[in-house]
Amino acid sequence: SVQDCTIMIKSVDADGDGDSAVGKSNLLSRFSRNQFQLDSKPTIGVEFAYRNIRVGDKLIKAQIWDTAGQERFRAITSSYYRGALGALLVYDITRRVTFENLKRWLHELREYGSSDMVIVLVGNKSDLANSTREVNIEDGQSLAQLEGLSFLETSAMENLNVEEAFQSMITKIHEIMS
Ligand code: GDP
Ligand code: MG
Repeated sequence: SVQDCTIMIKSVDADGDGDSAVGKSNLLSRFSRNQFQLDSKPTIGVEFAYRNIRVGDKLIKAQIWDTAGQERFRAITSSYYRGALGALLVYDITRRVTFENLKRWLHELREYGSSDMVIVLVGNKSDLANSTREVNIEDGQSLAQLEGLSFLETSAMENLNVEEAFQSMITKIHEIMS
């Protein structure tokens, strides 16, 4: 049988604007179409994609939302929060500010989202770890531990841990649903 499952991808930058170039759109395109774009444009409104994922003997149809997060889309934002079973909370390991503002997003999530939503914290752009890293892996790990989240560093560019991030979330969602 096929079960539906809605997941969203979120980040927050210094202005509270969610479209902060941490790699949300590229994580989505890598996972759903195995594509990466070096010069992707800022997301306007909402983008979404589907992928079917097998968990045990079940097929889960994941609908994944990627939003720009601007204020004018607030109505869309609160309605998709209500239906979302999981959220990928993304920061950019090469820009400290994208990590510092995660607490703001968690606050928003706990205000609008359901209490058993599965959250995976993702530090993206791990391919740049040796050159321009500004957030240590330990910082990501301790925030995740403090907030009770799963944590992974990913690279949408080099396709590292992208599959694992979505797979671990969907497996946990499946455990909650069944
Ligand atoms: P969004 O605004 O969060 O949706 O971010 P995008 O997916 O549009 O990506 C913003 C920029 O970061 C683009 O230039 C991407 O090519 C780049 N980017 C995204 N993911 C990675 C990654 O894993 N590694 C590197 N080096 N660049 C990335
Ligand atoms: Mg985007």
